[in-house]
Amino acid sequence: IVRFDDVGKTFSAGKQTLTALDGVDLSVRRGEIFGVIGYSGAGKSTLVRLINGLERPTSGRIEVDGLDITGLSESRLRDVRSGIGMIFQQFNLLRSRTVAGNVAYPLVVAGWPRARRRERVAELLRFVGLEDKAAAYPDQLSGGQKQRVGIARALATSPALLLADESTSALDPETTQDVLRLLRKVNQELGITIVVITHEMDVVRSIADRVAVLAEGRVVELGTVFDVFSDPQTAASKSFVGTVL
Ligand code: ATP
Ligand code: MG
Repeated sequence: IVRFDDVGKTFSAGKQTLTALDGVDLSVRRGEIFGVIGYSGAGKSTLVRLINGLERPTSGRIEVDGLDITGLSESRLRDVRSGIGMIFQQFNLLRSRTVAGNVAYPLVVAGWPRARRRERVAELLRFVGLEDKAAAYPDQLSGGQKQRVGIARALATSPALLLADESTSALDPETTQDVLRLLRKVNQELGITIVVITHEMDVVRSIADRVAVLAEGRVVELGTVFDVFSDPQTAASKSFVGTVL
């Protein structure tokens, strides 16, 4: 569902050029949970931003859901983005809107009529187990509840792909497990492909089918979670995986 062919991304900062990604090849298969791990600065968030077209690659080619998005116009990219759900470390909820208002927001943007919106929001809140919080405001929720709202909002328009960038990094271990259980349910019951970006080894180990290890902008290892964790092949992934063993 996502394919990177020799993708590079550089940023220029004054006279300097910073390489965020370098020669990245990977493909995420439809229906899987794909993990991307690596130290801070490895290029994980850049990779996410390339998938949803918030950044453009400096070189190489990116395909999302069968479409080459490399040279798409900004307006076509917006269409692609509407088929991708995103959840964030800091949840990014609108504080002035209720839970229901937050979940409804993408449907308002997509022009859904009010009655259909109401039905869809109720269905989504049931799915994430927050039907009793519809009228609450984000400030009245725990971190785990906020992320459930974030997930409901991300699912509103039935995306084929969900991107989770450090979506549990602000949560305690127990709440993290709750959110991961919900993501597993999203994957299994709704058939949505999920890309989980994290520096937390345990998260990827407990949820992902396959994992790519990023180091200094390169994919240094890619394989099943079992293989990568039990027998890492490169010094970089050994050092990374070793930090939690
Ligand atoms: P973290 O775990 O801290 O979130 P990350 O793996 O997500 O790190 P990125 O945010 O992708 O790392 O950053 C990769 C590199 O690209 C870093 O050196 C960063 O400073 C640089 N970078 C990212 N975005 C930009 C930008 N908009 N302008 C300049 N440099 C950037
Ligand atoms: Mg990041």
